[in-house]
Amino acid sequence: MTDLKGLKAVVTGGASGIGLATARLLAERGADVAVLDLRPESLPGPLRGHRADVADDASVRAAVEAAAEDLGGIDVLVNNAGIGAVGTVEDNGDDEWRRLWEVNVLGIVRVSRAALPHLRRAAQTPPHSAAIVNTCSIAATAGLPQRAAYSASKGAVLSLTLAMAADHVTEGVRVNCVTPGTVDTPWVGRLLGQAADPEAERAALNARQPTGRLVTPGEVAAAIAYLASPEAGAVTGTALAVDGGMHGLRLRSP
Ligand code: NAD
Repeated sequence: MTDLKGLKAVVTGGASGIGLATARLLAERGADVAVLDLRPESLPGPLRGHRADVADDASVRAAVEAAAEDLGGIDVLVNNAGIGAVGTVEDNGDDEWRRLWEVNVLGIVRVSRAALPHLRRAAQTPPHSAAIVNTCSIAATAGLPQRAAYSASKGAVLSLTLAMAADHVTEGVRVNCVTPGTVDTPWVGRLLGQAADPEAERAALNARQPTGRLVTPGEVAAAIAYLASPEAGAVTGTALAVDGGMHGLRLRSP
């Protein structure tokens, strides 16, 4: 099991779903964790919360500095905050496209920009481990229907991950992402809740997974914990799929 003892980690969007599972797992494995979220008040246990809107630069800078002071530095940044949108290019207006870009893409840019001086410092001091992990999505490369704006934003997250990995590799800061499939979080719960028959919709969703079930938030958190850890010291510029085989497997002959 990945040992994260002594690492100082910031997790955005850590008050719910994948981010909450990640913050909990990192803490369980010994890291000191600060969560940046729109709604930090619901956080359980030893997790420290800082209110931040990743779409607002001033709010991000203040929260990252507060978290760094609180933790005594930043070794790990998990850029996980994200929002979704359903629709084709004809369904979503410019404002919705801009909102997704603001949160899903520029959100990562802003938090990384504020955290990089701390990560660089972490890379220079023992145990010389500094890592950024971005939460991307299978939508970046899968060609999902009814997810035009969301897929484009996550495509940008994938490209950004690779470009950042190249820019910061000589500074000792590794940058990777996870590409989850359909994960059983409150977000998916909200989508299912809009269906005429949520239980039938959930069964259909399970049936569409090669594994016959949704990915759990804890399974994504475990992949993030690995990429964040010194054990992944030679891993940078990768996308780790945690999607129950959704993207890689072709279960029927063409
Ligand atoms: P969720 O809605 O359960 O949690 C998202 C968290 O992000 C919430 O706590 C919310 O308050 C926070 N957040 C949203 N906008 C924010 C902002 N502007 N500033 C700060 N915090 C903000 O969602 P989730 O399913 O856990 O998704 C987390 C990430 O995983 C997202 O980036 C999403 O795109 C990605 N993802 C989810 C799935 C899935 O099936 N659930 C699949 C692939 C990728």
